[in-house]
Amino acid sequence: MNQSNILVVGSSNTDMVIKAAHLPTAGETILGGEFFMNPGGKGANQAVSIARLGGNVSFICKTGNDIFGKQSMQLFQDEGIETYLFSDPNHPSGVALITIDSEAENCIVVASGANATLSPDDLKKADGAIAKAEYVIMQLEIPLETVVYVSERATELGAKVILNPAPACALPINLFEKLYLITPNQTEAEMLSGTKVKDLDSAKIAANIIHKKGVENVIITLGQDGALVFTTGEFHHIPAIKVKAIDTTAAGDVFNGALCVALAEGKDLIASTEFACKAAAIAVTKLGAQSSIPYRNELSLNQT
Ligand code: ATP
Repeated sequence: MNQSNILVVGSSNTDMVIKAAHLPTAGETILGGEFFMNPGGKGANQAVSIARLGGNVSFICKTGNDIFGKQSMQLFQDEGIETYLFSDPNHPSGVALITIDSEAENCIVVASGANATLSPDDLKKADGAIAKAEYVIMQLEIPLETVVYVSERATELGAKVILNPAPACALPINLFEKLYLITPNQTEAEMLSGTKVKDLDSAKIAANIIHKKGVENVIITLGQDGALVFTTGEFHHIPAIKVKAIDTTAAGDVFNGALCVALAEGKDLIASTEFACKAAAIAVTKLGAQSSIPYRNELSLNQT
C-alpha cells in the first residue's frame, strides 16, 4: 500500500506506578502494593500507535543520558520506529510518578526533565526528518517554541501539521494558520474556544470558534460519544464504537496515532476519524497506556 511518511515530535516518559489502599495525604508515608514501570509520554504513545497500526513513522524526542533514556530507545527500536533521540547531559529523562488507590482514583506528578529542553536548535539538526514527512504530529509536552518552530518549518517544506493540543494550554494565534488539523478533547476545546463543551451542540460552537482562529480542520474527541469533525465548512459526528471500557488511559493517543495512519494511507478526514474511533475503542478495553495500543490485525473492519 502507498503510504506517506509520518513524523511525531514529542515527549517520552517513564511511568512509575504504585498501587495503594488509599492515596497519601500531605506529610503521610504509606506502604503500597504492586509497582510497575511502563513507557509513556504522549509523543511516544502516538509514535507506538502509528507503528503498531502499520504507519511509516519517525519520532523525534529528548531523554536524559540515563537508564530510562536507554530503555526508551530500545523500546522504539523494538517497535520499528525510526528514532531521532537527543540526549540531554544536564537533565534526567521525563518521569511520571503515579499512585492508584483501590477505587482506581489516581494522583500523578510529572517531571518533564529532558522533554522540556527539546529545542528548535535540536530540531534544526533533524531537518532531514521534517523534510521527508508528509504528516507531522505534535502534542504540548515539549516546549511551545519548539512546536511553533516545527509547524513553521514543516509547512514551509510542504507537510501537513496536526496538533493534538494536550495537555491544555493557551496557544499563540499565529500557530493556528500553520496547522492542517487540530484535535482537542473536550477540556482542551473549552480552553481554546472559551466556551463550555458538554455535548454535540456545544462542541460545534467550540469547533467553529477554533476554526475561525485560522486552522483548516478541527476534530473534537468526545470520549464515549465519539468525535466531531469540522471540515470544508461542515460538521460530521462519528459515534464511538460501543465497547465495555476498562481503562481509557491513552485513548486520545491511540485516536491521534490511528488518525495519522489513515490520513497517510489517503483516506479522507471522515473515514480517518472512523478508523481512529475503532482503534481507540480497542484501547479502552485494555489496561494501561502503551500496553493497550492495538495492532493493525486487531481492527477487524476496514483493514485496507
Ligand atoms: P485520554 O486522556 O483518556 O487519553 P482524551 O481525553 O484525550 O483521552 P477522549 O475524547 O476521552 O480523549 O477519547 C478519545 C477517543 O477514544 C474518542 O473520540 C473515542 O473514539 C474513544 N473512546 C474514549 N472513551 C471511549 C469509550 N468509553 N468507548 C468507546 N470509545 C471511547
